[in-house]
Amino acid sequence: MNVYQQARRHAWAMIGNVLFGCLFIVIVDQFFGHSTLAFAGVIVVLVVLNRRILTFNCPRCGSNLFFRKYIMLPWPNRHCSRCGLDLPKAE
Ligand SMILES: [Zn+2]
Repeated sequence: MNVYQQARRHAWAMIGNVLFGCLFIVIVDQFFGHSTLAFAGVIVVLVVLNRRILTFNCPRCGSNLFFRKYIMLPWPNRHCSRCGLDLPKAE
């Protein structure tokens, strides 16, 4: 599995984590009438789970797959934004 496939898998996992976090906040809100602490907890957990995003780098130049020049998006690049390497085919 190359770095692009790993990055895609991470993006899908984070989508699942965000949906699970939203569900958790709604459930806590229904049972306790407020969700401020649950919201704060979910944000901290999502940030910790998303630390791995910094390890998905282009094998040729080291540019992060989730950055388009200076903008970070939640889905990985197909082509490296710095050197243009075709990432799904790169090993
Ligand atoms: Zn590159």
